[in-house]
Amino acid sequence: MMVLTERQKSRGRIALRKIWAYIRKDDFKRLEAELQDVLLLGWDAATKEAINDVIRALTGDSELSKSDLEKMLAALELRLGVKFAGRVAAPLVQIQTSAYAIGLEDIILVKPTFSKVDYAALDMLERHNTYWMRNYYDKQIAGTVQDIGRAALRAGLTRREAGLLFQEAFQNQINQGIRYWEGFAAHVITRSRELGRVEGYVQAGIEAYEVRAILDRRTTPICREMHGRIIRIEEAVKLRDALLEAKDPEQVKQIAPWLKPEQVQGKKTAKLPTGMALPPYHFKCRTRTVKHRGTSAKNTVVEMEPGKKTPEVLLGRSAEEYTNLLRDIRARKLRFNKKDLAHDSIKHMQKFKRIKTVDEYVNAARNVVKTSDKILVQWYKNRELQYLFFGSDGIVTVDMAMEIRGYYFHRADYIERTFQNLLREKIWLKTSKS
Ligand SMILES: [Zn+2]
Repeated sequence: MMVLTERQKSRGRIALRKIWAYIRKDDFKRLEAELQDVLLLGWDAATKEAINDVIRALTGDSELSKSDLEKMLAALELRLGVKFAGRVAAPLVQIQTSAYAIGLEDIILVKPTFSKVDYAALDMLERHNTYWMRNYYDKQIAGTVQDIGRAALRAGLTRREAGLLFQEAFQNQINQGIRYWEGFAAHVITRSRELGRVEGYVQAGIEAYEVRAILDRRTTPICREMHGRIIRIEEAVKLRDALLEAKDPEQVKQIAPWLKPEQVQGKKTAKLPTGMALPPYHFKCRTRTVKHRGTSAKNTVVEMEPGKKTPEVLLGRSAEEYTNLLRDIRARKLRFNKKDLAHDSIKHMQKFKRIKTVDEYVNAARNVVKTSDKILVQWYKNRELQYLFFGSDGIVTVDMAMEIRGYYFHRADYIERTFQNLLREKIWLKTSKS
């Protein structure tokens, strides 16, 4: 069996992503793939140089000296810091400018001309990103290399022995670097795109925009929490201006810290810190913002009625934000969670006399979701949001990974009572049909 190295695997992933980006014609995915290529090729060249010119140059049987080590550390830092950043600087600027421009153009729908604020944003992006590229080696790798060096000195290794030791230790660091640059590329694109969008929203006179995560099993809890939130453009402008004024890139961590889901759950969007106005909400974040769209009347939550014991955490979202989630759920052909389906098709399916096959069961559940005019939301097991859709003789639950989690039979003459009982701990989302 052929064993692929980290590097080959990551090349493979890039090739696949490029193909997908092309098929989907997603400009940002394409730019991300391009930037990843640039970074990984640059990193590949820089690390090869470091190994060949610096580490392999450690030869001979004389004992490794302190000055050998210091010279080596300085040479590595140069190659993996400043030289690496210099190598990728030009394409980086080009790609992040494209992401910014397309982010802006998506909103204003005409080719943008850059103003002072755009140039300031692009300049900030360039300074910050260059800083992270230059300092990755210093912050993440240099310490380990120093530790190995000190151990080699103490052990009295020869230069040749120390060289071999460094080479081996280096491989692991290089692989970590590869993973880092993949994530970094995504981060650069997200930041550039979202800053472009802010200017787009301003120019287009849009008052509020919407946070849109990719909802699947991989979605992080924080992005699930932010999905569907409607944010006022002033917040994004405030955040953008704070980022532009950051004295140094490290300060960004204070301006837009990555919060835990518990710090956001149950909070009204207007009460969230300014730093949450725009993604990324974490490293490798796939979330974007979009112009807030209206929705059809049947998906519009016109009133929220909480029960007597409804947990606070459910009250953070507004009717409009619950509308967004409802629209997303109904826009899809929902999958039935595999595990739950295996269980329910034995335990619950047979109680519906009219349903004979698993396919019929799944379709009937989907139909309840699409047509129900009695909808509750619950805080399931104290940790996640779920929607409950009432049909004429059953209830369907849907989670935020956009999967059906159950379809339970209830006798038609009892379903109203069940609804009233359940309502106590949930919120009744009244649509115009309810
Ligand atoms: Zn995310």
